[in-house]
Amino acid sequence: FVIPEFEEFTDKIEKFYLNCKAIDTGKVAAYIPQLERMSPNYWGVSLCTIDGQRFSIGDVKIPFTIQSCSKPLTYAIALNELGSEVVHRYVGQEPSGRMFNELILDHNKKPHNPMVNAGAILVLSLLLNLSEVDMSLAEKFDWVMNYFKRMSGGEFVGFNNAVFLSERENADRNYALAFYMRENKCFPEKINLRECLDFYFQCCSMEVDCESMSVIAATLANGGICPTTGDQVLKPDSVRDVLSLMHSCGMYDYSGQFAFTVGLPAKSGVCGGLLVVIPNVLGIALWSPPLDQSGNSVRGIEFCKELVSMFNFHRYDNL
Ligand code: GLN
Repeated sequence: FVIPEFEEFTDKIEKFYLNCKAIDTGKVAAYIPQLERMSPNYWGVSLCTIDGQRFSIGDVKIPFTIQSCSKPLTYAIALNELGSEVVHRYVGQEPSGRMFNELILDHNKKPHNPMVNAGAILVLSLLLNLSEVDMSLAEKFDWVMNYFKRMSGGEFVGFNNAVFLSERENADRNYALAFYMRENKCFPEKINLRECLDFYFQCCSMEVDCESMSVIAATLANGGICPTTGDQVLKPDSVRDVLSLMHSCGMYDYSGQFAFTVGLPAKSGVCGGLLVVIPNVLGIALWSPPLDQSGNSVRGIEFCKELVSMFNFHRYDNL
């Protein structure tokens, strides 16, 4: 086993869980009613090792929308289908140093990276344009959802239509980003902006729970092979690129500090979810809706800090 003393390990995880449970700061996202209604008390932690050992504590079976935690997954699919060279003709690899939804492009007039809204919308336009996968919009939705499902080893992946409709109703900024990108000729030819944005809102509105999300994280930790099914969902090269950008850009405008203090690839979302990958060891899903100033889950960040203070998981430990 990659973690031989598993019970000793999970005793510590439980301790971190309880320490973080006591935290009562942060604000639940309120830009749509469906997120605003989420209880600030929800708190779940699940982990899955690359050899399939599992541990869960707290609210790990409650569905939540994946939101921005979908960005590394749709980026992974694009890499897997199109290759890095093609994808990065359209989107950069640099942290933006700005808010995730800031109306800004890099010096080459490309979105900064696939982990910010502009970059994620662009990546989805590439998936919609894929000629090798000639499908209707409905089939494309199923196709992405099925990819997510395979990453989760067939565990819970759903869709929240109320969140989708709300996202679409409150989408001025995302529309502005898309028009701004179209003005700057960022998109591939023949793109329908409305379809592309709908696809983005749909991906943000996919549902997971901590348990299924921990398997997704473990699939990334395991180089693209789902540890519970043995299914090679993603190529190792695609996963390498995804983890690199999660490491430098995954935590909004806190990414640099997170890379410094925690030193692990991770991606957060406005849902309060946090996908954390310990390459070659395990995947972790953390979920607690209250967010800090940067938009990251307060309990999630604190949990990560406690984790690396006890275990040498920081990428530059063990030197
Ligand atoms: N649906 C949200 C948006 O596009 C997702 C953003 C996020 O999770 N940070 O604004």
